[in-house]
Amino acid sequence: MGVNIAAYKDIVKELQAQKVTLVAVSKFKSAEDIMELYELGQRDFGENFVQELLLKQEALPKDIRWHFIGHLQSNKVKYIAPFVHLIHGVDSKKLLAEINKQALKLDKEIHCLLQIHIAEEETKFGFGSHELSELHGLNELPGIKIDGLMGMASFTDDEQKIKKEFGELKKAFDQANRLSTFNHQLSTLSMGMSSDYQLAIQSGSTMVRIGSLLFGSRNQPA
Ligand SMILES: *Cc1c(COP(=O)(O)O)cnc(C)c1O
Repeated sequence: MGVNIAAYKDIVKELQAQKVTLVAVSKFKSAEDIMELYELGQRDFGENFVQELLLKQEALPKDIRWHFIGHLQSNKVKYIAPFVHLIHGVDSKKLLAEINKQALKLDKEIHCLLQIHIAEEETKFGFGSHELSELHGLNELPGIKIDGLMGMASFTDDEQKIKKEFGELKKAFDQANRLSTFNHQLSTLSMGMSSDYQLAIQSGSTMVRIGSLLFGSRNQPA
């Protein structure tokens, strides 16, 4: 096992044709594995855990764009604020307030995606799509730039169900743009992983987060 270079090249070609951004999800994978894709030109990598991300950011080239895709605790925002490229899973107003605070301390703007709860599983974090229209106050957080939305479909083989969930997320994305909920147009819709990225793209995804297809399966629970 190890990095699947052939799969990487195929996926890059497929995504480029559709103008979809690939975030290579490298959680639990070594710096060496990451460097294999880096040397092929990959710059966007996704991590789920703050401690692991800090070690990798320290050790790896500084032009890597690090995406934080896990569940972020407010008390850990300060560690990744100086360098993080995009925080995908912003799932509460409390977290937004903390990101804003840390960004202002650094005199910068931190790019974020709001996580929308689309799957049926109760364990999934996120805002309800109906809550978006109530988030107008976000425009008063000068340290935050909301680039778009992120979501995860249910873990199931039922393609119809996955499509329906991705469709709901796309609808929320289009509606936020139509209503100018954020006072600017959202550019990024982050949805799709190894098992469902093609369905996600069919539903309008602009950014996919792919791990196991590129790096092989993970031994540790994700
Ligand atoms: C781990 C993870 C991925 C990648 O999952 P794969 O099935 O390995 O492609 C994508 N998104 C999130 C939020 C993850 O935690």
